[in-house]
Amino acid sequence: MDPVAIIGAGVTGLTAAFYLNRKGIPVTVYEASGRVGGVIQSLRQDGYLAEFGPNTLLETSPKIRQLIRDAGLESRRLDPDPKAEARYVVRYQRPIAMPGSPLGFLTTGLFTVRAKLAVLREPFVPPRRDGKEESIAEFVVRRLGQEFLDHAIDALVAGVYAGDPYKLSVPQAFPKLAQLEANYGSLIKGQILGARERKRRGEIAKDRAPKFSFDEGLQVLTETLEERLGESVCLNTSVTKIAQTPAGWALDLRQGARETRAEHSAVIYAGTAFRLAELKLQTQSALTLTPFSEIRYPPVASVVLGFRREDIEHPCEGFGMLIPKVAGFKILGTIFSSSLFPNRAPAGHLTLTSYVGGERYPELAALPPDKLVALTCEDLRILLGVRGQPTFQHTVLYPKAIPQYNVGYGRYRELMAEIETKAPGLFLAGHYRDGVSLSDSIVSGCNVADRVEKHFRANHPMFFQACGRMSFTLHAFRVS
Ligand SMILES: Cc1cc2nc3c(=O)[nH]c(=O)nc-3n(C[C@H](O)[C@H](O)[C@H](O)COP(=O)(O)OP(=O)(O)OC[C@H]3O[C@@H](n4cnc5c(N)ncnc54)[C@H](O)[C@@H]3O)c2cc1C
Repeated sequence: MDPVAIIGAGVTGLTAAFYLNRKGIPVTVYEASGRVGGVIQSLRQDGYLAEFGPNTLLETSPKIRQLIRDAGLESRRLDPDPKAEARYVVRYQRPIAMPGSPLGFLTTGLFTVRAKLAVLREPFVPPRRDGKEESIAEFVVRRLGQEFLDHAIDALVAGVYAGDPYKLSVPQAFPKLAQLEANYGSLIKGQILGARERKRRGEIAKDRAPKFSFDEGLQVLTETLEERLGESVCLNTSVTKIAQTPAGWALDLRQGARETRAEHSAVIYAGTAFRLAELKLQTQSALTLTPFSEIRYPPVASVVLGFRREDIEHPCEGFGMLIPKVAGFKILGTIFSSSLFPNRAPAGHLTLTSYVGGERYPELAALPPDKLVALTCEDLRILLGVRGQPTFQHTVLYPKAIPQYNVGYGRYRELMAEIETKAPGLFLAGHYRDGVSLSDSIVSGCNVADRVEKHFRANHPMFFQACGRMSFTLHAFRVS
C-alpha cells in the first residue's frame, strides 16, 4: 500500500500528489466522483469552449509557474489578449470601465464627487486598534464610504466569493487588507509603501498578477496531473471513515455498493468542508469534524452562452463586467470569455459566461436550465444590447460552490490546526483552509506536500534510506 492517501482529486489533491511523487513518496488519490478536477470543468463543443468553474488562473506565486513547468504544460499555456484588460462595473444600467490609474479614478463616471473625496480622505482615517473582527462592509464603509461599498466592493465580493459583504470577514477573507491597515494605518499608504516588501517576497497582488488558462481550458491542468499520476488515482471511491491505528491510518472506502479498507501512514484531506464534516474520524485524542458542516457554501449556476457577433451591440472587449446588488439585476456578473482567450467561439461569434445565485440570490441558482438562460438573456439584453437567441447554451449548477470565510471563520481554522497537531499524520489542505482561489489551492497543495515530506523524514527515516538505496541501485543499473 502507498504510504500517503490523498482524499479528493481537485487541483489541491492532484498538486499535492504530483509533488509527493516527485519527492519519492508514493501516493494513492481517492476521488468520490467519476472524474478529476473538482469544480474545474471545461467543455469543448460545437466550436465553443465553455468553462463552468474557474475561468482564469492567477500567477500570484512563483509556485504556480513552477507547477506548469514541472507538469510540462508551458507550451499549452494561453495568455489573455492584452486588449482584454478592461473590467466593467454596472451603474446607471450600463457597464462602466473601472479606472486603472489615479487620473482615471478622478475622471471616471463610476463614482460621484462625494465618493471620490471619501476615497481621497482614506489615508487620514485612523486605523481600528480595538481588535474587533469586522465584515468587509463595515471596514469599507469606515475607510472608504458607503458608495464605494455599494458600487464597487459589493460587485467585487460577488465576483470572488459569490458572497455577502456584510458577512465576509476582513481578516479571514481579505487578510491583505487587514494587514495593510495594521502595518501602514491606511490602504492607500500600504499599497504604495508595501510594494517593495511584496516584491522582495516574490508575491504579486491578485489585481496585478498575470492571469492565464490553457489551449483547451483549465481542465488541461488537472487532466495532465492525472496522467502523470497514472494508476495512483482511484475514481468513484468515497472515503467514509478515517481511523488512527498504531501504524498510521485505516480508511473505509465505498466504491458503489462495495466497501473496502486501506491502510496508509499519512492522510491528506483535500476535499470540501461539508464532506469533511460527514467523515467519521476515530483518533486517540477526542476530535470532532462536525463543526465544519456550519461553513456556508452558497449555490452558483454557471450559464455559458454563445451569440452571433452582430447580435450584440456592446463591443465586449475586456475581461467582463461585475454587477453590484444595488444595480438591480439577477446575474452576478459576466466574463467576456471569447474576448479574453482566443479560440473559445466559432468565427463571428462570442461566448459570454454569466453567474447566477451566490449569497445574493441562492434560490435563483437552482432554476431549471431554460429559466436560467432566459433570465441571463434578459439582463444581457439591457446591459450589453444582446438581441436574438443564443447559438450555444449550457448551464452547470454547483449546489455548494465556494466556502464563505464569514466573520468567525477563524474558529474553523483553529480547529483545523488543532486536528493536525493532535492527530499527527492527518493533514488538511485546500480551498476551505488556505484561500478560495485556484492559485491559493495550488499553493496549498504544494505546501501540504512539503509538510507531509517533513513528517515522513521525522517519523519514517528508514523509508528515505530505503528510497536512497533504491535510487542508488537504479543509478548503478543505468550506468552499467
Ligand atoms: C463557479 C466557480 C467559479 C470559480 N472561479 C474561479 C476563478 O475564476 N479563479 C479562481 O482562481 N478560482 C475560482 N474558483 C475557485 C477555485 O476553482 C477553487 O477554489 C479550487 O478549484 C478548489 O480546488 P480544491 O481541489 O481545493 O477543491 P475541489 O475542486 O472542490 O475538489 C475537491 C474534491 O474532493 C472530492 N472529495 C471530497 N470529499 C471526498 C471524500 N470523502 N472521498 C473522496 N473524494 C472526496 C470531491 O469530489 C472533489 O472532487 C471558482 C469556483 C467556482 C465553484
